[in-house]
Amino acid sequence: MLNKQIKKLNKLDEKLSSIKYMQALLEWDGETIASKGGVNERSLVAGEASEIFFNSFINDEVKSLLDYLNEHKNELNEITKRKAELYTKEYEKIAKIPVEEYSEYAKLCSKSYAAWEVAKENNDFSSFAPYLEKIIKTLKKFMGYRGNEGHPYNALLEDYEPGVTMEVLDEFFDKLKESIVPLVKNLQNKPKTDLSVFNQKFDLDKQDKVSKHLMDILTFDQKRGYMTTSAHPFTLNLSRNDVRITTHYYENDLLSSIFSTIHETGHALYEQHINEEFGLSNITTGVSMGIHESQSRLYENNLTRNSKFWENNFPKLKEIFKEELDGVDLELWNKAINNAKPSLIRTEADELTYPLHILIRYELEKEIFSNDIDINELPKLWADKYEEYLGIRPENFSEGILQDVHWADGLFGYFPSYALGSAYAAQFENAMRKDIDLDTVLANNDMQVVADWLTDHIHKYGSLKTPVEIMKLATGEKFDAKYFIEYLERKFA
Ligand code: ZN
Repeated sequence: MLNKQIKKLNKLDEKLSSIKYMQALLEWDGETIASKGGVNERSLVAGEASEIFFNSFINDEVKSLLDYLNEHKNELNEITKRKAELYTKEYEKIAKIPVEEYSEYAKLCSKSYAAWEVAKENNDFSSFAPYLEKIIKTLKKFMGYRGNEGHPYNALLEDYEPGVTMEVLDEFFDKLKESIVPLVKNLQNKPKTDLSVFNQKFDLDKQDKVSKHLMDILTFDQKRGYMTTSAHPFTLNLSRNDVRITTHYYENDLLSSIFSTIHETGHALYEQHINEEFGLSNITTGVSMGIHESQSRLYENNLTRNSKFWENNFPKLKEIFKEELDGVDLELWNKAINNAKPSLIRTEADELTYPLHILIRYELEKEIFSNDIDINELPKLWADKYEEYLGIRPENFSEGILQDVHWADGLFGYFPSYALGSAYAAQFENAMRKDIDLDTVLANNDMQVVADWLTDHIHKYGSLKTPVEIMKLATGEKFDAKYFIEYLERKFA
């Protein structure tokens, strides 16, 4: 009987993972090359696809299968047990939502993404506001169906970083504020270096060449992945053997595409390194957004903003941009990539001010899910908080509330995982340095050594272990924000 049920679970896993694969493909298409004109049909398809997923998953047969497996938990091997555990959690999350509302929401998100893209381009918050309002309203309703105890925002946080609550985050951000805010204030007293050379015209094809070169150096497997451009860089894993990333090229900003590409490559490596034996499964993906962000931020900041990394790679950059970077030396380059100053755009922010961008979104999301908030007030609240924490105020919506795609996609509760990811990254770096001579490895451009360490300690598990377990396995300790704070103080004090 047990064996039969395990087989059934594996069959279900394959089916649901396949449907998610198709949904991901649709999303990839919508966010890269799909024509804007096709948004209505595309959202219809997204709605139908999510209905197919819902009906394949939420039914009595699956319910009794999961119940049976949970009763026999102790007789299951680790992989089956974890698959059943994750499906049970997902089942409970959506089972009480009526199927029409579930698929309606998928349609809404698809349309909302398209509306956001246009609104951002035209600096027009009012055209996007109705979508945002509907998304928030729907999510609140869904939280009601789920019926979790405690604050509804905690249930959203749990979706992206299991085990992390508002209580945990409040303490985490309080600690960060305490050390970061004085460091940011201190920046004003530091001598300024002229970095305008990095904002001249940089040919887009050449930027593309740089991106591809860096992906190779970082050991991205081109045969099991692909890179293109989109409005907002992101990573999407169809499977561990087909991991897609995007970047964005700005003609007058060389650093932006370089570090976006490195960031997404960090995400992609995590997916590409998951244990091959897991196949197409719900455990064959990163375990949480926090752990995922720790990998992208580790590559983007801890590894490639380290001057050692550029000893070998800066000459290559100069070779590609011979005229543009004529007269620029390694020292100036390192200053440019580690330059901290308050700015408006999160994805362009330096390591020091970055957590404040996240804090602002976290405070707004708490507010949104605690009270009935007037959507039209949000841009002002956003701008006020930038003034409070960073001393600057967005002049328009595009560089303010419309800059990020997340809310348009319904991803509330997601942002805090970026700050947690940065903090996890510092702790992982600390652990890695106990095993390998990281500075020498970076200077030798031997990024395979880094990739192997990460595969062994983090990547290979996929979702087999919880974020808390991974932290313990990789570092021997539980999560502690002190590593991140020490890292920032070392670098910016
Ligand atoms: Zn990321």
